[in-house]
Amino acid sequence: MPNFIVNTNAVNGIYHVHDENAVCQHLPAPDDRRSLGWFSSSQGAIAEARKTYSSADGCENCVKE
Ligand SMILES: [Zn+2]
Repeated sequence: MPNFIVNTNAVNGIYHVHDENAVCQHLPAPDDRRSLGWFSSSQGAIAEARKTYSSADGCENCVKE
């Protein structure tokens, strides 16, 4: 089941949301990860991330929607 994290270190102003268990070369270092928890869809995870980081968006590599 997908557990999502957000990169707390913005890249070009975007806080990317990743699937924590994905094989993604863009996953941030452990210190830069903030857990968002489990969501049945990446849209839910992105909405949760945007409560804190208004410019959050899905990683193009592991969060496709
Ligand atoms: Zn990713």
